[in-house]
Amino acid sequence: MADSVFQMALKQLDEVAKKINLDPNIHNVLRQPERELTVSVPVEMDDGRIEVFTGHRVQYSSVRGPCKGGIRYHQDVTLDEVKALAAWMTWKCAVVNIPYGGAKGGVKCDPFKMSTQEVRRLTRRYTVMIMPIIGGRRDIPAPDVNTGADTMGWIMDTVSMFEGRTVMDIVTGKPIELGGSLGRREATGRGVMISTIQLLNKLGKNPKDTTVIVQGFGNVGSVAAELLSQNGCKIVAVSDVTGGFYNSNGLDIPDMLKYVETSENHLLEGYKKGGTEKISNEELLFSDADVLIPAALENQITEKNADKIKAKYIIEGANGPTTPEADKILGHKGSIVVPDVLANSGGVVVSYFEWVQDIQAFFWDVDQVNESLEKIIVKSFDEVWSISQDKKVDMRMAAYMIAVRRVASALKQRGIFP
Ligand code: GLU
Repeated sequence: MADSVFQMALKQLDEVAKKINLDPNIHNVLRQPERELTVSVPVEMDDGRIEVFTGHRVQYSSVRGPCKGGIRYHQDVTLDEVKALAAWMTWKCAVVNIPYGGAKGGVKCDPFKMSTQEVRRLTRRYTVMIMPIIGGRRDIPAPDVNTGADTMGWIMDTVSMFEGRTVMDIVTGKPIELGGSLGRREATGRGVMISTIQLLNKLGKNPKDTTVIVQGFGNVGSVAAELLSQNGCKIVAVSDVTGGFYNSNGLDIPDMLKYVETSENHLLEGYKKGGTEKISNEELLFSDADVLIPAALENQITEKNADKIKAKYIIEGANGPTTPEADKILGHKGSIVVPDVLANSGGVVVSYFEWVQDIQAFFWDVDQVNESLEKIIVKSFDEVWSISQDKKVDMRMAAYMIAVRRVASALKQRGIFP
């Protein structure tokens, strides 16, 4: 049987533990989440029925600071998946050295089949159900798959109603008017772009001679595609849940962005443009290009398809798109994977800036946000790159070596209570 997502996350941790000779006691602590909460979320639907959804919030680690991580709404959400995503948040915050632990939340639901009012009621009730464990100094949620600024605004308002005051630092990724940060919406995609350009720089390659495939045209993939095309890359294929599009001469990304702005559920379905071919998700993954950016869900590049992937450079916009088995196959082929915990860290880095701005009640301009983001990603990329060169390990292993060492060292210094 294939590994569960959390087993996959543990496999990655176990491999790095071996590599850095991690103290077995510390290793054992880091193999389990600190706290798991599962909640029932009854929601009155528009037709008067009451539907009960299942939600989770997992706090994986608070060793380096308050827990931090997004909330996703998806029909495939499970506790196992949320645990894996919470573990990855822990390593992500440690790689880029921001003062957070890791957490994640999720509700099993299909928001595309719900009205805005239903999603709002779901969000408010889920917020109340996890309120005993979240907090601006405890655990700070953020957007993830199928959630966004609106969702975060509702979370902020719900908590504020209970506290009887406006509580901004409870959640990040909020609308700008409610204490959100400029640049947060684009931050994950911007980080993916910066990571891609950094890799091309290290390899002495020119973005203008680089072709790119992007799987996923949501908040991460669409912004990454836009910014990379602005940097001169040719985006030859993109996809979303409704299918893929290919043009060997390069897709018109601004035109596609305009299309999804007004299309139903902001999807690419029905997009048409001369010279652009419709392709399947499989065809997209196996297309001929230099760079592949998986920016959808986990488990996309597996032992079943890794050898068919032609792109040599994979920049993980999504969390967990590559399985450990696929990582090995790609490594043997000489491909380079810039791991999720580094490549998509832009979102949580700007979440950190948002939280700092909320606490100080002093807001930055967008240049300050983008410059500070770039500084952190470039520095972290360099650290990961040099360890991977010095120790002759792939970039995921290098990133995990840095991250796990940081978490382990904080845990050692704090000691085990009592
Ligand atoms: N959901 C995003 C991630 O997976 C952002 C999390 C955050 O900003 O806390 O990194």
